[in-house]
Amino acid sequence: MTAPLRTTCPYCGVGCGVLVTPDGRGGASVKGDPDHPANFGRLCSKGTALGETLGLDQRTLTPLIGGQAGSWDTALDLVASRFADSIRDHGPDSVAFYLSGQMLTEDYYAANKLIKGYIGTANVDTNSRLCMASSVAGHKRAFGSDTVPGTYEDIEEADLVVLVGSNLAWCHPVLYQRLAAAKQARGTKVVVIDPRRTATCDGADLHLALAPGSDAALFNAVLVALADRGAVDQSYVAQHVSGFDDALAAARTSDPAITGLAVDDLDLFLDWFVTTERVVTIYSQGINQSSSGTDKVNAILNCHLATGRIGRPGMGPLSVTGQPNAMGGREVGGMANTLACHLEIENPAHRRGVQAFWQSPAMPDTSGLKAVDLFQAAGEGRIKALWIIHTNPAVSMPDADAVASAIKACDFVVVSDVTRTDTTRLADVILPATVWGEKSGTVTNSDRTISRQRAFLPAPGQARDDWRMIADVAARMGWGDAFDWADPAAVFAEYAQLSGVAGDLGGDFDISGLAQVDYDTLPPTRWPVSAGKTGGRFFANGGFYTPDARAHMLPITPRPPATRTGARYPFRLNTGRVRDHWHTMTRTALAPRLNQHIAEPYLEIHPVDAADLGLAPATLACVSSPTGQAILRVAITDRVQQGQVFAPMHWTGDTAPTGRIDAVVAAVTDPVSGQPESKATVVAIKALNPAWYGFAVSAGPITPDATYWARARHAGGWRCELAGQTPPADWESYARALFNLPDATCLSVIDAKRGTYRLALMAEGRTLAALFIAPDPVQLARGHVADQVGQAGAALLAGRPGAGMPDPGPTVCACLNIGLHTITAAIAAQNLTSVAQIGAALQAGTNCGSCRPELAALLGQRLEAAE
Ligand code: SF4
Repeated sequence: MTAPLRTTCPYCGVGCGVLVTPDGRGGASVKGDPDHPANFGRLCSKGTALGETLGLDQRTLTPLIGGQAGSWDTALDLVASRFADSIRDHGPDSVAFYLSGQMLTEDYYAANKLIKGYIGTANVDTNSRLCMASSVAGHKRAFGSDTVPGTYEDIEEADLVVLVGSNLAWCHPVLYQRLAAAKQARGTKVVVIDPRRTATCDGADLHLALAPGSDAALFNAVLVALADRGAVDQSYVAQHVSGFDDALAAARTSDPAITGLAVDDLDLFLDWFVTTERVVTIYSQGINQSSSGTDKVNAILNCHLATGRIGRPGMGPLSVTGQPNAMGGREVGGMANTLACHLEIENPAHRRGVQAFWQSPAMPDTSGLKAVDLFQAAGEGRIKALWIIHTNPAVSMPDADAVASAIKACDFVVVSDVTRTDTTRLADVILPATVWGEKSGTVTNSDRTISRQRAFLPAPGQARDDWRMIADVAARMGWGDAFDWADPAAVFAEYAQLSGVAGDLGGDFDISGLAQVDYDTLPPTRWPVSAGKTGGRFFANGGFYTPDARAHMLPITPRPPATRTGARYPFRLNTGRVRDHWHTMTRTALAPRLNQHIAEPYLEIHPVDAADLGLAPATLACVSSPTGQAILRVAITDRVQQGQVFAPMHWTGDTAPTGRIDAVVAAVTDPVSGQPESKATVVAIKALNPAWYGFAVSAGPITPDATYWARARHAGGWRCELAGQTPPADWESYARALFNLPDATCLSVIDAKRGTYRLALMAEGRTLAALFIAPDPVQLARGHVADQVGQAGAALLAGRPGAGMPDPGPTVCACLNIGLHTITAAIAAQNLTSVAQIGAALQAGTNCGSCRPELAALLGQRLEAAE
């Protein structure tokens, strides 16, 4: 038996190592790599299900030109000539690349070299702009470079971990598990700062549900408390920091009352922060995705700099990134305002160094267009040729409808991707790309660890690696010699050599020690790696990358979100991720078990607000803003505060066309980082009040025609939620069209008085599909009904398991498919009081552990009910 291949999970910025054993038939089994320093064998639900996402369903396997299959030569000739024409006629700033944290570092390097060094524009940005641009900008303002000072081990060595704007339990589950294990082992205190009570709060010692946007005021209060209670490290500040007095003076003028926190809670937090030496502050999109995100980052960094709690074991700020290679993209210069290897466009010495290394004909001397501006420029006709690689901006950008219109309006758009998406549908040319499992390269995770992604499947059809496509276009534009790499190892070696130039120029990012390394066997390696430096922590003894080598504390004046609520838009919309999906679901939606936890887009709203608006549980609500609208399932919960709502970001035109929440999100950005404010859009909400609700299951594809629909894969088929404003004339005809089963036998149970219709379409005595219609949200055991498709008879029309067959309820533990009702019944019947006891009784939570916070919450609800 061959040894498993070591590679890296393609989802979040934790960067877990994965052991893959191919089955020789295009599939593979997947386990956590016990030797990888990010996860030590753990995987979350998404990583565990990676083997289910392999396969060629929905893949694009040939180049498509104007929707027609074409050859690679024809497609690449067209791309090169349209870019060359635009550059000749309108200058280099008339073209742009929009990249992705899903790209490997080698792909990023090739794209950045082509557009900056050869085309001569900095109009290259990445969807990482939506994720952590504010962290980059904050790091650079404070440290002089985009340096993450600490490591994951700090989480385990801290006595206090502060999570700010981070639902770590769902968005970075393996880091959360490491934190939970440390809490159990050493009693680490955990504080969660988030307007919403997320799954992460369920294991915390303190949850501070602050007012949206008030994080800077909170950390200003921390700085004042540190100063007033003698916790400032005077020696560190004197030797290594500038700006302390101004930062403290500004902090004293800001009012902590704007956080809206109870005085006792605030005092407790301040007390813990002041008196605990080993503090790690983890922050994520809740900080970054803000019109004052960079200031919030600097307010956090100020507190760590004032105390010298940085770069030492168990202490420091730690920005966690959303994407698998967001850090690699930052390092390689994939953003419009950076060069390469953390060098600066505006620095002439840096420009000369990179251009001399590349021996390139061009080098921009000013920043290019950041993501929001880039698409606005495309819509206005200023960008005439645009190459989008591995991302779906027609769904994921704020003001997504306007972005889709801009892409449509652009003269020439090429998209490299693996499946059809909302964005590829707008492209002139689609280039079929290789995907995880087929491509090789490196990624960098949130603690600077570079890991290999290794191919274990052949490239299907005509799919090609991104770096090679970019090199092929470069060659057609006349620069073949500079892009004449044999393989990704050659790209990486060149990149590592260039980083040595950066190191010589005094930069932090230097991996020149890897230039000669055996790429095939490269183990996970934290940078820097050079003759003089190895990948430890930064800044314990100063050594910042500013001109005076001092860190800069900044005076921060808190600012509220850019848009104000009012009579027309009285609610504030927060957006984020769910536990089992990743980005626009192009991969996770392929795994049936990942669709069982949450199968459709939803809107969390407080019970008081729901009552005021006449919204009942599981009905549908229309959410609108000045830019667009969405229709979402109503989830009434006090996890959100009154006046605030939350919606997940994952659903697309393919999975739930009216659930594209970024159509609602305003394209307001932070003035320093250019990062959009995706967590504070003002919205109006009203009940949709459809005439009918439906639920459908089918072995084959479902093609809905309805006001609202959301479809998801189920084992052996599909499930779909539906709703409409006008009932069709005939439900049987509707069902036959919905399932494309014109000749199937139809069995129906109709209660015309109550307005309910249940239809099963059958062939040879087996159910092929079923449709359930009701005037109110359809109530039935969805998982059970979906499981019955393909079975003999039409017992599923009952909508529930028969007598003696308990309904497991909605899935909580995705790995072992254990439902809510099963868990709550076991808790009650066996008087279970701990997550460990639930695991022993049902196995729930014993595999990847991603559901453990929800198990803890179920236990908490039972305790509350008993009190
Ligand atoms: Fe992948 Fe989960 Fe690890 Fe993130 S935490 S890298 S999604 S296995």
